[in-house]
Amino acid sequence: MASTPASAPTTPDPSPAELLAARPMLRMDPSAGLCIEDVPLARLADAVGSPAWVYSASTLRRRARALTGALEGAALRAKVHFAVKANPNLAVLALLAAEGLGADIVSEGELRQARAAGIPASHIVFSGVGKTERELRLAIAEDISQVNLESAEEAEMLSALAVSLGRTMRVALRVNPDVDAKTHAKITTGTSENKFGVDFPLAPALYARIAALPGLEPVGLAVHIGSQITQGVGAYTAAYRRLGELVVALRGQGLPVPRVDCGGGLGISYRDEAPASPEALAGAIQSGLGNLGLELMLEPGRWICGPAGILLARVVIQKQGTARRFVVIDAAMNDLLRPAMYDSWHGILPVSPHSFAAPLAPADVVGPVCESSDTFAQGRALPDLPAGELVAILDAGAYGASMSSTYNARPLAAEVLVQGGEWSVIRARQGYEALLAGSRIPDWVRA
Ligand SMILES: *Cc1c(COP(=O)(O)O)cnc(C)c1O
Repeated sequence: MASTPASAPTTPDPSPAELLAARPMLRMDPSAGLCIEDVPLARLADAVGSPAWVYSASTLRRRARALTGALEGAALRAKVHFAVKANPNLAVLALLAAEGLGADIVSEGELRQARAAGIPASHIVFSGVGKTERELRLAIAEDISQVNLESAEEAEMLSALAVSLGRTMRVALRVNPDVDAKTHAKITTGTSENKFGVDFPLAPALYARIAALPGLEPVGLAVHIGSQITQGVGAYTAAYRRLGELVVALRGQGLPVPRVDCGGGLGISYRDEAPASPEALAGAIQSGLGNLGLELMLEPGRWICGPAGILLARVVIQKQGTARRFVVIDAAMNDLLRPAMYDSWHGILPVSPHSFAAPLAPADVVGPVCESSDTFAQGRALPDLPAGELVAILDAGAYGASMSSTYNARPLAAEVLVQGGEWSVIRARQGYEALLAGSRIPDWVRA
């Protein structure tokens, strides 16, 4: 099992110019500074404040189309369900729904987000290792497309609930193909060492058991081997081949297996990773599952929305230590948790044209939260960034806003969607009233 980040840097950091060149939604305007599509980030910061998440609608659309196009190109009958946890903003979900994407959800909250964004229940798949009775009851009541079962115990529970509601629920069995996706230990999910899915050898008997349970209609298998997979498609190919063999074996027992949910996990390039293309992923699906007449599903999250968003922040103070220069910004680990949680690398670009052209020197970019892990970059080549300067933290569109907290009593940041020269706030910055709402001091505490 991978115990070190697969992306432990061995090469020099890409320069600001290289980062910019690789991100077509961004450009440096000689007078307006860094723009996302045609909107200057400085203008957005003045209008909505900072920190703020800013997403490019064109990029979201382009990436959604690239994935669906790759599946069509491989002649696969496949439906894409966007993993809501990567970016649950309702405007983002609605935009992706308009591109024909459904939703892969992991909680009642996400079911409600998907429905509120206008995604029909028939385009919703429910994944997750700890679905509660209440959540499953709602999934049955809404008659969603499919529940991906993670265990025998969950199958029994869902069966009883469906029977009590007089309904039948379509279910897939999530199997654990025991392949190592060679990603970060905190985001690998397909080895037999972790909590997800049922172990491969147990799958045939369990699938047969599910087929015999009242209230359940087995519709196939599901798999999800990990996230931020950047080491080619080898792990996918191995997983889909094993899954294909299982489909054949189950059908040989007379069991219906019309669908396979191929999961998500395709990685993106935060630094200099070279993840596989959607076409290569489609090829892996085709080679393992293409000739079985299956209805296929894919559950990508990060690949679609990660590169489409940035976190815009302003420098609070630049502090020169004896050995290090600290650029303290107004975004923190409560906003973007990934660097603190996964040691992840995010590109950082200055927004002003003057700073962008200035000489570079090493700096640590940190937030104001009282934790040393509140660090976005260490020894990063950046220009002089005095108080008031803006920076864009790149590739923050996935697992950014969705993992935010209010730690240090910092309100959730605003979210903005840009299209061409237009922009709209798609979630208002949390107010301090909302931050305090719900807190109660019982009389007996004050006594
Ligand atoms: C998180 C998750 C996904 C999406 O993963 P990405 O790496 O964002 O593509 C898909 N399916 C399941 C079951 C997940 O838990």
